[in-house]
Amino acid sequence: MLTARDYFYKFVAPEQLNKSYQAAFQERDLSQLPNGLPNGVPSFSTQEDAFKKAVNHAPNRSNDILIEHYIENLIKLAPAKLKSRLEGMFVAKVKDLIANAAAQHSRGNYDGDLIFFNVGLSDACYQYAILYYEFIRLVDEGKRLGDRHPEIVQLTKSVTEHTIKIAIAQRRWNREGLVQFTWDDVVYSRPDMEGYAITIATYSDKFILYHEIAHHILGHTKLGNSPFTFLENLPDICKYWRNTMSKKHMQEYEADAAALLMTLQTRSSNLQEERDKELSIAVGGLLTLTIIGQFARHVDKASIDHPSVSSRFDQCVAILKESCTYETSIGEIIDDIKRFQILLRKSQGWGLGCRWDMAEFTHN
Ligand SMILES: [Zn+2]
Repeated sequence: MLTARDYFYKFVAPEQLNKSYQAAFQERDLSQLPNGLPNGVPSFSTQEDAFKKAVNHAPNRSNDILIEHYIENLIKLAPAKLKSRLEGMFVAKVKDLIANAAAQHSRGNYDGDLIFFNVGLSDACYQYAILYYEFIRLVDEGKRLGDRHPEIVQLTKSVTEHTIKIAIAQRRWNREGLVQFTWDDVVYSRPDMEGYAITIATYSDKFILYHEIAHHILGHTKLGNSPFTFLENLPDICKYWRNTMSKKHMQEYEADAAALLMTLQTRSSNLQEERDKELSIAVGGLLTLTIIGQFARHVDKASIDHPSVSSRFDQCVAILKESCTYETSIGEIIDDIKRFQILLRKSQGWGLGCRWDMAEFTHN
């Protein structure tokens, strides 16, 4: 029987055999960059080494070096039964611009699990991650430094510009059903903040990836799989899948829950590591669902395949409140995300921010 990896290279993308995603697609993209980059576009020289590494990556668990790294780390944390399952997985990053969470399939003619990770949603998440970081920093530093401080003036200008650019891009993405960029509305992070924005984007990527892994390990893709049990200890108030008759909706709620709990339930003795882990899981889940809300527009409406984004968000909040140890920091993150949703609602006219009133947050 073929492995998931061999199946992908034999039948799905033989022309990409042993090539990283970046070698297959992005080398050409980079050579097509226009001469003379627009103002504010970072030079590629600082990223050159990282990029070379990504290009030369030999696909083992994924054709993307970062995703391979996420899976390796997850394998390290996982209990034995889950470990062997994860070791049989292959995640193919694919150049699909449709803003759908990663697709996955299983036809029974290979061993292990195959996941398709579309670049569309992930690329959009990076744009929102840049804005989110600037916005949160503006809220925090603004309180400390006051509105007239040069740093705050600069941040306000940047948040305003980026909010408008993303609103214009999102409008086009929704109209065309594709996440494509133009030089006019792509946003770049200030160099000193880029590292933080990239880190926040990796939290989103992980949530998207773990959600897809969860569909496999919970037995949603093949019959006869024994589901893993980490959802059972949750109180009923967190189990939104118990309130629906739709099997597809049930599976989506379960995949969201498992995506959070897969790493939330691992414990390390290092307190700072624990805190960082909770923060990364919370921001990853809440920010990704926020962005999906900007694509969905009608956040309270379910589709045939997916429950409403608002109910997915609420379940995520309930699970985080139940399962995180550092309650105060989780409360702060939830407030930050809600404020960010309001900013997006005001600039785009829709999204999860339709459910909140800014007045709720002005007291602190
Ligand atoms: Zn799903």
